[in-house]
Amino acid sequence: MNSPDFETADIVIIGAGFSGMYAIHRLRDYKVVCFEAGDGVGGTWYWNRYPGARVDIESVEYSYGFDEELQQEWQWPEYFSAQPDLERYANHVADRFGLRKHIRFANPVEKLQFDEGENAWRVFTAKGDRVLCKYVIAATGSLTIPNIPPWPGRETFTGDIYHTARWPEEGVDFSGKRVGFIGTGSTGIQAMPIIAEQAEHLYVFQRTPAYCMPSGNRPLDAEHERDWKAHYAQRREQMLDTYGASLVDYGVRSAHECTPQEREAILEQAWHSKSAFQLLFAFSDVMTDAAANEIVCEFVRCKIRSIVKDPATAELLCPTTYPIGGKRLCIGNGYFEMFNRDNVTLVDVRSAPITEFYEAGLRTAAGEYELDAIVTATGFDAVTGAMSRMAIEGVGGNTLADKWAEGPTTYLGAMVAGFPNLFMIHGPATPGAQAQMITTGEWQVNWTADIIDDMERRGCARIDVTEASEAVWAEEVSMVSTQTVHQYADSWYNAKNIEGKKGGFMIYVGGFPRFRELCDAAVRDGYRGFTLA
Ligand code: NAP
Repeated sequence: MNSPDFETADIVIIGAGFSGMYAIHRLRDYKVVCFEAGDGVGGTWYWNRYPGARVDIESVEYSYGFDEELQQEWQWPEYFSAQPDLERYANHVADRFGLRKHIRFANPVEKLQFDEGENAWRVFTAKGDRVLCKYVIAATGSLTIPNIPPWPGRETFTGDIYHTARWPEEGVDFSGKRVGFIGTGSTGIQAMPIIAEQAEHLYVFQRTPAYCMPSGNRPLDAEHERDWKAHYAQRREQMLDTYGASLVDYGVRSAHECTPQEREAILEQAWHSKSAFQLLFAFSDVMTDAAANEIVCEFVRCKIRSIVKDPATAELLCPTTYPIGGKRLCIGNGYFEMFNRDNVTLVDVRSAPITEFYEAGLRTAAGEYELDAIVTATGFDAVTGAMSRMAIEGVGGNTLADKWAEGPTTYLGAMVAGFPNLFMIHGPATPGAQAQMITTGEWQVNWTADIIDDMERRGCARIDVTEASEAVWAEEVSMVSTQTVHQYADSWYNAKNIEGKKGGFMIYVGGFPRFRELCDAAVRDGYRGFTLA
């Protein structure tokens, strides 16, 4: 490859989050350049530095497994690490494995153009870098682009407006302020109890109440750490064999086989299990059987009613319109308890939606709220957001934006027909947040890197997938989604978190073992569904 004005590389990696960082390491024998939009490594854990940001999977699991020394050396201070510790870990890994020399920070990729003559991608970045490379790996994350609903009047509000995914590095002091908080998903539930301790008053604008269970976070005890360090290798293997790549206790009995007393005991144990998500696996059929699911929903509603003292507030906080687990279960620390504080008011914006911002605060269909600051935790243009914002031109000059106009199409979540040599990690129609993302990201990077190694060994110039194979994958994704309760909830999984967004079901919910086997089998069967040239 020789092209004036373009430097050449073998592989461009987009994004220095956890998957992108591992991709740099795994593919270090090639000439690798990584472009990152932020000033630092860590992706999600670089951007989401809002108060209370914390992982909801045990840190001994939610960490890299590719290097035994790394996992033996590193010490997690808590069971569920807070954002600063996760960012510190990302920086440690970047330094320890010499990744920084490959990364160009504050330099997002703006455009990718496939050069059919060269069988290579031309990469254009915001800082004016031009790279010609054979392969591109988009490790752009599935929760990258903040969703900011188009409320009128934002510019007229005289106070400060924040989005949790773009939190100021120096933090925010809410002391003595009247704060409006919009969004009661996983993010809002973590941030609000901390903000409530500072603010003069916190107004919680809730459209849909969330199911939430306590995280049970605590300092990591020495015995737990010793036990994990003694068994890391085998536990990492076991994780990949579980539905969500996480060692929760997967219940084997149907809720219908248990007496009411047995159910209550099992659910109580799950609630206090200190293992996030245990409620969803308390019985074998919580995620697949509506009646079994409703038993768990009612258990959580009873918990809410027992925690929140004001009955009207408790009732408003009880989710009734969708199954538990249909959206990602929220894991909190004192969220429901927060509503017992005198300085917290719950505002129902389902019955009276937010109509506009005005200079002194927020207006809903029912009234006005004077505020000094407004925090939005309104989620993300998830899964497709980061890919859609780059101008990506594939074979014949066709754009990804056009191809995905009605929703994303992929084969195995990894490639898109007509966009050769372009791989995605955690792309649309992969398990995404349904499976622990560091470990499954590592697995996807290895799978992708093995394909690249194999292509190089065989002297192949180009790998693509067919539209027929995309259709087969779409069928599989849809089939597994109709077997779960996910189909009954509107969320970022099915593109229904943003008005007008098209996409259908964008997450693979058939479980990680099935996903992994289908990916491996396709390669093993002579690259079934791919075309190699
Ligand atoms: P989210 O789950 O999409 O929640 C967004 C919230 O904003 C919802 O309550 C939504 O209400 C509300 N909202 C959006 N537009 C609105 C509008 N126009 N008016 C009123 N309310 C509006 O986003 P998130 O909380 O940032 O979480 C996204 C994902 O990030 C999670 O599912 C999880 O995978 C990940 N996450 C993980 C952790 C963790 O590991 N601990 C923490 C945070 C996030 P509706 O429900 O009515 O749409």
